[in-house]
Amino acid sequence: MELDSLYQEVILDHYKSPHHKGLSDQKDIQVHHKNPSCGDEVTLNLVMDGQVVKDVSWDGVGCSISMASVSVMSELIIGKSYVQALAIFDAFFELMQSKGQSSGDENLLEDGVAFAGVSKFPARIKCALLGWMAFKDASTQVME
Ligand code: ZN
Repeated sequence: MELDSLYQEVILDHYKSPHHKGLSDQKDIQVHHKNPSCGDEVTLNLVMDGQVVKDVSWDGVGCSISMASVSVMSELIIGKSYVQALAIFDAFFELMQSKGQSSGDENLLEDGVAFAGVSKFPARIKCALLGWMAFKDASTQVME
């Protein structure tokens, strides 16, 4: 395993100092997602304000990739419109399917491009996607 490309500094920084970790009292919905193959778990609280992602807070246990990815995602999507957040989700999802062939859209994904190397390791893609799938699930339930 290429540890250098897998655990980039950005990922370690977010793992050590996660953003928006700690569940807020405010929530429109709470979802809990698991990645049994690695043992990662995340609970995510979402607050929407009309079409805008007003707040995301989360708690979880798991590997550095899963926890860092939720942290990066929270940072990216808070304050974005639902449509923008879904575009960011799609860009990240596409990056994870790229098998190491894409470096990601930095305009949309910002720190999220640090996970590009993860797409070469099928077993870790679910780690990286865990928080994102939780957001997609939560936001879809609130908006529909
Ligand atoms: Zn994991």
